[in-house]
Amino acid sequence: MTAIPTRPQRLRVRLTAAALGMVRGGHPWVFASSVLETNRVGYAGELAVIYDRQDRFLAVGLYDPTSPIRVRILHAGKPLDLNDNWWQKRAQTAINKRADLFKADTTGYRLIHGESDGWPGLVLDRYGDTLALKIYTPAWFPWLERVTRWIGACAKHDRLILRLSRNIQGMDQTDKKWEDGMMLDGNLPSSPVLFLEQGLTFEADVVRGQKTGFFLDQRENRMEVARLADGRSVLNAFSFSGGFSVHAARGGAVAVTDLDISAHALSAARRNMALNRASPAVSACRHEVIQANAFDWLEASRDKFGMVILDPPALAKRASERSGALHAYERLAGLGADRLDPNGILVAGSCSSQVSANEFFRAVRKAAGRSGKRFQEMATRFHPGDHPAGFKEAEYLKMIYLRRVG
Ligand code: SAH
Repeated sequence: MTAIPTRPQRLRVRLTAAALGMVRGGHPWVFASSVLETNRVGYAGELAVIYDRQDRFLAVGLYDPTSPIRVRILHAGKPLDLNDNWWQKRAQTAINKRADLFKADTTGYRLIHGESDGWPGLVLDRYGDTLALKIYTPAWFPWLERVTRWIGACAKHDRLILRLSRNIQGMDQTDKKWEDGMMLDGNLPSSPVLFLEQGLTFEADVVRGQKTGFFLDQRENRMEVARLADGRSVLNAFSFSGGFSVHAARGGAVAVTDLDISAHALSAARRNMALNRASPAVSACRHEVIQANAFDWLEASRDKFGMVILDPPALAKRASERSGALHAYERLAGLGADRLDPNGILVAGSCSSQVSANEFFRAVRKAAGRSGKRFQEMATRFHPGDHPAGFKEAEYLKMIYLRRVG
């Protein structure tokens, strides 16, 4: 078992008054700039104890010397021993929250959603009998064998695969080498992992794919698109593996076009459509794929669609990119609006946590207003239940639906 090396003393951390207030208020992050003092050098994955100004226990969290998020809070309040039972219960609580969210026709969903479920920097997704665990901080490396046991005890599976966020691949670890795509439990899948979403079948590339292999967070928007797609021709820009298109096809779309810069994504989109040919609506729907930069293609195209979906990758990854991203969202929405039939629907999304829902919606509305056509706002949508956002920085997903009315 990988153990955290024994240190002479527990790692103790002192914080600024403002940061103490944040932790008291339940915020899960302590930034390096808020740390006044530690009693010694800390290692990734150690438990760090935060004391208040009267030297009373305030919180305990995972220490990460490599990240600006220096401590990720696990527990705040009364002193507590984080033993196996405590961890096990924490995993079970997250998993129980999903127990009533899905019927048997949906077997792909998130079981643990990071901070918002009390597991900072860690997510766990289910794809049928396959579980994918993804970590975003090296602080979890020394815990992975225990995490595997805790998950094993409360989520049935045939295999559990480990995914590492790009920024932690190749980082120094403890005494074991953890690699992106390795199995923590069970055997590597011999064929693509299949799962169901509302009775439709999809493959997920759990070993190499983006996120953990599929954009599970867009499930409810896919369902909404299916409800609106009847009789329409749909352009699915930034399609990835075509999730929106398959749902639109079953919803009665006459044609769907997947547009993505990645040939790999478009091959998956073809396979996902083929996996659902048993549905008469899907087999009746024309399917086309286009490999191109969506901005360039939209700019050059003269084609018109009954629905345009714009779901780009996060255009602002850091605060400094915010205003550039807002311009890009606005430009994209304008290009999308230009491609709509008179009664067409624009579905525009953002997954940048750096861009707030209000500023994103404002950018899209502005673009629609400038397009010279009239639009009516149909809906806005946010996080689904299996991806709860427990604090402001965790809010990333927003979507707006506009209908062209003139
Ligand atoms: N809508 C998808 C998820 C989109 S992820 C779903 O629901 O599953 C973002 C996708 O945008 C990726 O597949 C990526 O390959 C693609 N992409 C990134 N930049 C692009 C660009 N400039 N033009 C077209 N596609 C792009």
